[in-house]
Amino acid sequence: MGTQYVIVGGSAAGMAAAHTIRKKDSKGLITVLSNEKSAPYFRPMIPYIINGKKEVSQIRLSGNGIFTSKDIDVRTNVQVKSVDTANKTVKTASDETLPYDKILFATGSRPYMPETITGLEAPGVFSLKTVDDAVAMAERSRNTDHVVMLGGGILNLKAAFALLEKKIKVTLVVYSPEVLSQLMDPEDAFLVRKALDNAGLTIMTGCSATDVVTDVNGVCAVTLNNGKELPCQMICVGKGVIPNTDFIQGGDIKIDKGIFADKYTACSVKDTFTAGDVAVTYDPGSGGKTVTALWTNAVEMGICAGLNMAGIKTQYTGTFGIMNATQVADEPFVSMGVVHTKDKDVETYIETSGKTYRKIVFNKEGTRLIGALFIGDITKAGMYRYVIREKKPIDKFKSHLINHTLHYGHFMR
Ligand SMILES: Cc1cc2nc3c(=O)[nH]c(=O)nc-3n(C[C@H](O)[C@H](O)[C@H](O)COP(=O)(O)OP(=O)(O)OC[C@H]3O[C@@H](n4cnc5c(N)ncnc54)[C@H](O)[C@@H]3O)c2cc1C
Repeated sequence: MGTQYVIVGGSAAGMAAAHTIRKKDSKGLITVLSNEKSAPYFRPMIPYIINGKKEVSQIRLSGNGIFTSKDIDVRTNVQVKSVDTANKTVKTASDETLPYDKILFATGSRPYMPETITGLEAPGVFSLKTVDDAVAMAERSRNTDHVVMLGGGILNLKAAFALLEKKIKVTLVVYSPEVLSQLMDPEDAFLVRKALDNAGLTIMTGCSATDVVTDVNGVCAVTLNNGKELPCQMICVGKGVIPNTDFIQGGDIKIDKGIFADKYTACSVKDTFTAGDVAVTYDPGSGGKTVTALWTNAVEMGICAGLNMAGIKTQYTGTFGIMNATQVADEPFVSMGVVHTKDKDVETYIETSGKTYRKIVFNKEGTRLIGALFIGDITKAGMYRYVIREKKPIDKFKSHLINHTLHYGHFMR
């Protein structure tokens, strides 16, 4: 019998690993266990389910058929409850025991629901993570005039825009002084903010929710810490995510804000691997530890894990934050590497026009590019990503980085 591969989680990282293993090992048995009801799908597209632009069937990764034809056994609605690394088995919620030779943990993350807000279990409170969440939000929004979004991150903005497109009033409540605070400094955000205002989003900064108020239909208002009460029929919580590691009990697999991955995507126990949003890996920009929250990173890491599981030792080049947010407003932007520069000892160049904003960040010696933020015009962002990620010497083209005149020829000299 061939090697028995078990993959926990059937999304970006898990499916990328499964396909990679199959390319390298035609005989192995590959089983993907997913606790979602739906067959694997492209998660970044779920906002289009809310605004009705896509059907669930249109955002499937490739349909169950292709997995079957590649002999990848994708089992949906299966919750992995525990892992026994000594006996190399996993136990499911229905008490089935499955053996493995090699296992991948690609369980991603779930929304964080702050305990400081009471009533978040009420009907009408959502957090956009799964296709089922999106379907439920679409359903509830049919009888909704006003939605309050708690949190100003990218996922909430995407959900907010999907709802605005349905002509529903949306208010964003943000504790930080500005939206997208994880992707840029407040003073960088003025063009994004303008686009959000133009799109009709109401934004309240510097405040947070304390209580969800309900009536017979579920949510009917939310109260804020400034004493205001906002009547609404729906709430969407976007306050960050928690890695799904609960099924790993005991101390042999190292957990550190996620599952620890070495440079070869391996966990701390032989024949166990991890990839995607649940994995703690390193950021080539900062050199520090990081958890990814991006589809592209999850796929890259999943491919790398698949190679390592199939016996082809491959080093993972690191998780690198890059986000193209074209979908949230008419304002495209890319934020990568170190972009929060306030009070930091770095060399920063900012150039802005009425329509575009560029921030280029070098280390304090000015010898290495460590971050870049583009708003309005994101051309060439890929080249900047390459320079940061590969830690390219920049002495020959630094002025081109600053002036945005960089081209591929500069890498060949
Ligand atoms: C609304 C939304 C919009 C997004 N937009 C973008 C975007 O524009 N660009 C971008 O790069 N990224 C985007 N992302 C982020 C991107 O979707 C994630 O980074 C990516 O899905 C991570 O993939 P993953 O495979 O690591 O984990 P996930 O996609 O989180 O999948 C993990 C899977 O494992 C399952 N699972 C968890 N625990 C268990 C268990 N015990 N047993 C069985 N199964 C389990 C989960 O239910 C889930 O199906 C978006 C995310 C959301 C929610």
